[in-house]
Amino acid sequence: MLTAEIIAIGSELLTPERVDTNSLWLTDRLNRLGIEVKLKTIVGDDDARLEEAVRDALKRSRIIITTGGLGPTEDDITRKTVARALARRLLLDERVLQTIRERFIAMGRAMPEINARQAMIIEGAEALPNPHGTAPGLYLEHDGRAVVLLPGPPREMRPMFETYVAPKLEAKGGGVRVVRRILRVAGMGESAVDERIAPVYTQYKNPTTTILFNRAEVEIHLTARAASEQEAELLLDGLAGQIEERLGDAIFAFRGETMEEVVGLRLAVGGYTVAVAESCTGGLVAQRLTDVPGSSAYFLEGVVAYSNEAKTRTLGVPPELIARHGAVSAPVAEAMAEGVRRLTDADFGLAVTGIAGPTGGTPEKPVGLVFIALADDAHTEHKRLLLPGDRQLIRWRASQATLDLLRRRLI
Ligand code: AMP
Ligand code: MG
Repeated sequence: MLTAEIIAIGSELLTPERVDTNSLWLTDRLNRLGIEVKLKTIVGDDDARLEEAVRDALKRSRIIITTGGLGPTEDDITRKTVARALARRLLLDERVLQTIRERFIAMGRAMPEINARQAMIIEGAEALPNPHGTAPGLYLEHDGRAVVLLPGPPREMRPMFETYVAPKLEAKGGGVRVVRRILRVAGMGESAVDERIAPVYTQYKNPTTTILFNRAEVEIHLTARAASEQEAELLLDGLAGQIEERLGDAIFAFRGETMEEVVGLRLAVGGYTVAVAESCTGGLVAQRLTDVPGSSAYFLEGVVAYSNEAKTRTLGVPPELIARHGAVSAPVAEAMAEGVRRLTDADFGLAVTGIAGPTGGTPEKPVGLVFIALADDAHTEHKRLLLPGDRQLIRWRASQATLDLLRRRLI
C-alpha cells in the first residue's frame, strides 16, 4: 500500500487545550484512497523542529501532508520552513495575491499588508484555492514525493483536501482500499454485545472487528479492505447485516451517527414534536437534541426544573407527589414528562430526574439512581436506572438513556 505521513503544526496542539483532529479525518480519507498512514507528528511553531520533521519525512514517506501554520502572522512558519527543507525559493504569486485582496474587498475591508505573505508560493508548487479562508494550500512534487500543505482550521482544510488533493492522490493510490464503519449500540454492555456477535464476526478475516465502550454506548468498528471502495462497502454490508440480526434494535447507528441525530431523524420523518423536562441533566438532553441542524422542526421546548418548586410551578408536578415519593422517583419523572407535554402541546414529553452526585446519595437512593419517563397522548412509561460513573458520566449516560427511550418508542 502507498504510505503517507501527517505533520500537524501548531504550538496550541502541544497544550492540554487543543487536540489535533485534522489527522484523524485525513487518515480516514487517505485510507479510502488506498493510502496507509504510517506516522503522525505534532510540531509546535518552531522553525528548527519543523524543518527537521519535514526533512525526516522526505526520507521515508511518499506522501507528506502538513496542516496548520499557513496564517498571515509571525508564528505561521510552514511555508518558509518547508521551502527551506526542500531547498526551494519562496516566490510571490500575483494571482494568488489578487485573490486574497478580492476576498477582503468582498468583506468590505482592505487587505492588511501581512496577508500578502499568504501569496508567497514555494517554487514549483501549485496553489490550492481556499474558498473558506485566506490561506491557500500548496501542492508540489519533489523527488517522486507529494508534499501537501493544508490550512489548520478543519472547515478550510477538509473541503480543500476533497476538492484539490484527493483527486491527485487517488491517481497515485490504487491498490487496497480501506473503509471503516462504526455501529453503535445502546443499553448493553461490552461483554453482552461481544457474547452475541462474536460467533458471527470471528468467522470473518475481512472485515475485521473491534469492540469498544465509549461513555454511554458500545461501538463496533468494522474495517474492510478491498480493491475498490464499493467492494469494501459490500463486505461491510454483509457483516453489518449479520450483526444486526443478532442485536436488533439495540443498534441505533450503522454509519457512526450520534443518538441525537438518529432520534432527530425519526422525529422529523414521523412529523412529531418533542419537549423535554430535565432535572439532573441540567439541559443536556435539550442541548444534544438541538445540536442537530434542523432540530427546530421537532424540538419545541426544554425546561430545566432543578428545584422542587420549579417542578411544581412550571411542570405542574403535585407537591404531595414529591413529598410522598421524593423528587427522584418514578411518579415524579412521569409527572414531569406529562407536565412538559401539557405545557407545550408536544407529541412527546421526555423527563429525567436523578442523583448525579458526588453528594446527595442515601442508602435507598444512591448516587447514580435516575428515573426517566416518556409521555405521549396514550400513555406514560418510565425506567429506573442505576448508572455508574462520576457526575459528568452519570449525566451523560442519563441523557443517552432518555434519548434512547424515545428512539425505541419511535421504531
Ligand atoms: P493555523 O492554520 O495554524 O493558523 O491554525 C488555525 C486554527 O486551526 C488553530 O487555532 C486551530 O483551531 C485549528 N487547527 C490547527 N491545526 C489543527 C489540527 N491539527 N486539528 C484541529 N484543528 C486545528
Ligand atoms: Mg497555527
